[in-house]
Amino acid sequence: MKTVLIGVGQAGGKLTRELADFDSRMGFGAVLGAVGVNTAEADLQELPFETVLIGQDRVKGHGVGGDNELGAEVMQSDKQEVLAALEGRITAEAEAIFVVAGLGGGTGSGGAPVLVKELKRIYDVPVYALGVLPGRNEGAMYQVNAGRSLKTVAREADSLLLVDNDAFRATGESLGEGFDAINREIAQRVGLLFASGEAVEGVGESVVDSSEVINTLRSGGIAALGYASGESAENAEGNINTVMSTTRRALMTGTSLPEANEADAALLVVAGVPDKIPRKGVERARRWLEEETGSLQVRGGDFPLDSDRIASLILLGGVERSDRLEKFMARAKEAQKEAEEEAEKQEDPADAWRNDELEDLL
Ligand code: GDP
Repeated sequence: MKTVLIGVGQAGGKLTRELADFDSRMGFGAVLGAVGVNTAEADLQELPFETVLIGQDRVKGHGVGGDNELGAEVMQSDKQEVLAALEGRITAEAEAIFVVAGLGGGTGSGGAPVLVKELKRIYDVPVYALGVLPGRNEGAMYQVNAGRSLKTVAREADSLLLVDNDAFRATGESLGEGFDAINREIAQRVGLLFASGEAVEGVGESVVDSSEVINTLRSGGIAALGYASGESAENAEGNINTVMSTTRRALMTGTSLPEANEADAALLVVAGVPDKIPRKGVERARRWLEEETGSLQVRGGDFPLDSDRIASLILLGGVERSDRLEKFMARAKEAQKEAEEEAEKQEDPADAWRNDELEDLL
């Protein structure tokens, strides 16, 4: 699937760089181009592609400091500059646009929904968002920001592919230290998804087509991506069980949004050396996925890859009913309520005497 990437905010820019790197390192050629957008000048300097600094008149290149309403406002005022940077890149070849952002911050959280809406108005290709959910131990502000951003971006985008920062965190690793590792994990999965619609014609029995990715995401709402790999056997027969077990692990423990097992639609891509991909195993895994996700629309296909491993990549469309998501939304709402109560307390009418406009007697 030929894709143009737009990274908004710090996480969005870093992830976009990782995605573009992975695609070029693997020689896939699925990423047509990338642009980085931010309110913080310093974050843009690290990006090896065209960048657009927005909100200069408001924040002078210093970022919005986690204020996602400000992030949305500056994107709204400066969207023309972002669109201008994209113009030559979204060519007739482009099959999808991905807006990439961390949902818990300010620039990406506020800016991504605004940009997605604008891009949808202009372009005919699907506009997807790749959104990063803050980890459970990130503070209340991140949860509230992400809750609001998620709701809006899921409504505006053709689909929101959600990645939970906790999903890829190695135990004991702090989130800060882990970001680069997390970004690599995400880039590998999402990069394979982009590339799987690019499979070389004539190789493999049933290669995936971009339209299958697009159709899986057609129901809109929220999507997730699962992945697991195992060592390949010498021949297809020997890989029947391997494909079953990688598929099971990809769904049960390998998804970008943990506990997302119910889906409206799914796509199973099995990657490996074409003549070592077992037809029987793929078919069995596809049926298992149908039962497990409760979806009657499970597409399947091969992704020819020269590797001594065999991998299952599962795209799940319409995973709104995930437990993790429900817990996250409940927590975001709770944090929002607490913040409002705190603000009200500070405006306590009992304090009004302090700022009374009456002149002091003495
Ligand atoms: P912005 O620049 O104002 O959009 O804010 P950030 O992009 O820094 O967003 C903060 C959120 O993104 C927090 O929830 C962080 O956990 C997450 N985040 C920041 N940097 C990264 C990163 O490089 N990778 C990932 N996966 N998440 C990140």
